[in-house]
Amino acid sequence: MRINSVWRRRILWTALLMLLVFLLAMLVWLAGRYEASQEQSRIERATSEAVSDVRADFSRNAQSLQATQFGEPTATSWFLSAYALLRERREIVRLEWRDAAFNLTADVDSPYRSPVFERGGRVISANSELIQNCNNARRYSGPSYASTYYVPLNDGMGVEIMELCMPLVDSGQLTGYLVALYSLHDVLEELLGRHLTRHQEVAFTEGDGTRLAVMGTARRASRVFSAQQLVDLPGTTLVLRMDSWRGSPDLFPNLLTALVATLVIALVSILYQLGKDTRRRLKAERDLADALAFRKAMEDSLITGLRARDLKGRITYVNPAFCQMVGFSADELVGLSVNAPYWPPEFAEEYKRRQDIRLAGNSPPREGFESVFMHRDGTRFPVLIIEAPLINAQGEQTGWMSACLDIREQRRVEEISRASQDRLQATARLAMVGEMASLLSHELNQPLAAIQSYASGSINLLRDEPENRRDIEIAMQRIAQQAERAGKVIKSVHDFVRRRDQTREVVKPQALIDAVLPLVNLQARKLSVQVCLEVAPGLPAVLCDRTMVEQVLLNLARNGMQAMDLPELRQRVLTLSVRGAGARRIEFAVSDVGMGVREDIADQLFTPFFTTKAEGMGLGLSFCRTVAEQHGGTLVHTPNSPQGTVFSFALPVA
Ligand code: ADP
Repeated sequence: MRINSVWRRRILWTALLMLLVFLLAMLVWLAGRYEASQEQSRIERATSEAVSDVRADFSRNAQSLQATQFGEPTATSWFLSAYALLRERREIVRLEWRDAAFNLTADVDSPYRSPVFERGGRVISANSELIQNCNNARRYSGPSYASTYYVPLNDGMGVEIMELCMPLVDSGQLTGYLVALYSLHDVLEELLGRHLTRHQEVAFTEGDGTRLAVMGTARRASRVFSAQQLVDLPGTTLVLRMDSWRGSPDLFPNLLTALVATLVIALVSILYQLGKDTRRRLKAERDLADALAFRKAMEDSLITGLRARDLKGRITYVNPAFCQMVGFSADELVGLSVNAPYWPPEFAEEYKRRQDIRLAGNSPPREGFESVFMHRDGTRFPVLIIEAPLINAQGEQTGWMSACLDIREQRRVEEISRASQDRLQATARLAMVGEMASLLSHELNQPLAAIQSYASGSINLLRDEPENRRDIEIAMQRIAQQAERAGKVIKSVHDFVRRRDQTREVVKPQALIDAVLPLVNLQARKLSVQVCLEVAPGLPAVLCDRTMVEQVLLNLARNGMQAMDLPELRQRVLTLSVRGAGARRIEFAVSDVGMGVREDIADQLFTPFFTTKAEGMGLGLSFCRTVAEQHGGTLVHTPNSPQGTVFSFALPVA
């Protein structure tokens, strides 16, 4: 289709161009022809003027000749008047006065050239041309001209002569003849010479075209214009031929052709410009079509519904996605205003109000607003509408363009994510409960074990009651202390697991040691461990969560003692030391001389539930590190010398 139209256009253009070229060629040719005909008629006019000049001259000369016989002249007086005539008329080369028997009475030669018959002499035979001519003249009773003849001259040149004979009659009696000899070349020169232009040649010719006398430059050129005309004289006929030639062939023979050529150039350049313009237009059209196709493809592939409305609220455009969304075709929707079929009837009033507000020129929120549409089948669904003013190429607003997004799927995903969020929270709570239970069971082991051992000690003491009264009292107090401690541990663990802000208090380092010492000693006795204290004197108080830090010290001490629970180990010493670490921190360290930490498990020590012990829970070190970090430090372990491990952490000075 497109190729066809391209070919059609090409053929049309070619035809137009060919027509134009043909027309222009015709114009140039016609202009040339016109010019040629002008030239031809000019030369024909000149020829006929020349002919009439020649005839007028001949008849005037005949009269002048006649005049020489006026008043019965003698031979001498005739000679004088004939000579005067010859001086005046260069074209006549000789005059003769002959009697009726053709004998010469008087003769005179032109003073302008040597006598014609000087070389050959003048021979007059009985039937010579002269006699025949004069007989003719006698018959006409007037001048008669003879055919021309050539007379060679002394200087090697020659001259073409034409004779005129005039009878002399006196009271009806022939008395003689006057004969004038014309040089044809001089006739041309005298009569026509001054009218002749440089580009012309004039000649007397015979009927067959032989030139008798020529004047002008015989130049050959491509264009020669000729005209010839008969000079009818009594007794003979001459042909006067005039040639005119143009110089070298002209590209622009004359003004008309030049004008035509200019027009041609103008026309061709206009055509060229038109062609260029058409090409530009075609390209613009193609680009526009491409852009339209691109836009259409884009609109059709969009899953966002597009709806355009004019300033009166009438729908002017909907894309396929919009039609699919609401279940109505574009034809059913375009042109509708309020109460569009996709408005749920229950919201129609509200939507109408909203539309009025929009048409009053209020811009909608940039992020869009939510609304509810109704599908053809009656299903309502939520949509997100983003509206923007429609601005045309002149910058004027012509309406509104809305992008409508069906947000059913989004809503569903939100719902799912909310549900899973809830589930996650429940799981997290469960996990927290589990963590708390584990920690509680871990941390409560110690106070409960202590309570148990104090209780069984007390039972033993009760057997010999009176003496042991004091000891039983102490044991009961300890039981009460440990029970209270168990309560605190429960609260602290609860806080710890909920990651609440722990209650910080100012405590002397010694007080912390003192608080854990009874429990440490209790366990040390069981495992035959000697507990050593190294508390630097005069240490400032620290700011910490007291119960938690005590639990850390207890855990570390218990781990240390368990590490030394080796049958071959004789010297079992656990050292609790406290010293300053810089100006702002106090370092607590728990050192043992046990089996040490194997390198391959060093990385995993703090991982929750990592343990190497049969009855271990693997929560102790993870708990200790979290507490150390909550106090702005960290828990580190280094090998002790000669053996064992040192666990240490630092607390901020209060
Ligand atoms: P549990 O004591 O219940 O095993 P912990 O988290 O307190 O859990 O300790 C984890 C592991 O770290 C222990 O099983 C033990 O192998 C190692 N460990 C802890 N303290 C020491 C120590 N002082 N010397 C050697 N190993 C230790």
